[in-house]
Amino acid sequence: MTPGQRLRQLANVLNATTPLGLLLAGCARTPVRRGPRGLLIATGYRWRLPFAGAFTVGNVVLFRAGPEEALANTVLLGHEERHCTQYAWCLGLPFLPLYFLAAGWSLARTGNPGSRNFFERRAGLRAGGYPEPGARVQAATAGRTGPAAPERNEA
Ligand SMILES: [Zn+2]
Repeated sequence: MTPGQRLRQLANVLNATTPLGLLLAGCARTPVRRGPRGLLIATGYRWRLPFAGAFTVGNVVLFRAGPEEALANTVLLGHEERHCTQYAWCLGLPFLPLYFLAAGWSLARTGNPGSRNFFERRAGLRAGGYPEPGARVQAATAGRTGPAAPERNEA
């Protein structure tokens, strides 16, 4: 790990978000393993919410997929890792209301919670499965979910 990754790991333990992520993983009975760069990878998440293939709480990245598929998706893992860093910059729990405000702003402006969401834009829209603002949704996705709700990889 780089010094920055160690600092992020320590910050997210001290700001209580990584313990919160581990508590969530434990309550959801998802196995947790060590991942790269100080991340903790929880796999096989089955709870209904959030509607996403992956999401992050502190340094814990929770995937619906199994461990092989989760660790093989380096693009999505990189996106989630940037959210880990955002938790640290927000001093932990303030990330959550700030994120939901940004998602609401994006939803009101574009019809989806990611395209104008500051945090998703910084983490990489394409990697998170969000369209660029004004982008046309691919036909395969549009037929299933409509242009305002593209298939999302994560939250
Ligand atoms: Zn994201």
